[in-house]
Amino acid sequence: MCSPQEVCCFICYKTFDKDKTRSKKCSLCGDFKCPLCGGCMCNLTLGEQRVVLAMIKTYEKMLDTGYNFKQHEKIEKKVRKALQEKDSFKNKKK
Ligand SMILES: [Zn+2]
Ligand SMILES: [Zn+2]
Repeated sequence: MCSPQEVCCFICYKTFDKDKTRSKKCSLCGDFKCPLCGGCMCNLTLGEQRVVLAMIKTYEKMLDTGYNFKQHEKIEKKVRKALQEKDSFKNKKK
């Protein structure tokens, strides 16, 4: 598996070893909770969450790791929904 051992936190921007620190995954966003600040993808804004998800999607596809993107399903749904709402708002304006 080519899954990273060291993870850089989106919130405090520090790296941590996800195995050594026994970092747990957040059930809501599927992201690792940072042992240093307790943050995860949930602490980001919708726009930031979209960027992170897009990055994960791109890289995992490129590296072909068999990464289970489904673990981010809940947060992905939220991001998609927000995008759709934005679109429908735009269309109404026309
Ligand atoms: Zn952190
Ligand atoms: Zn979370």
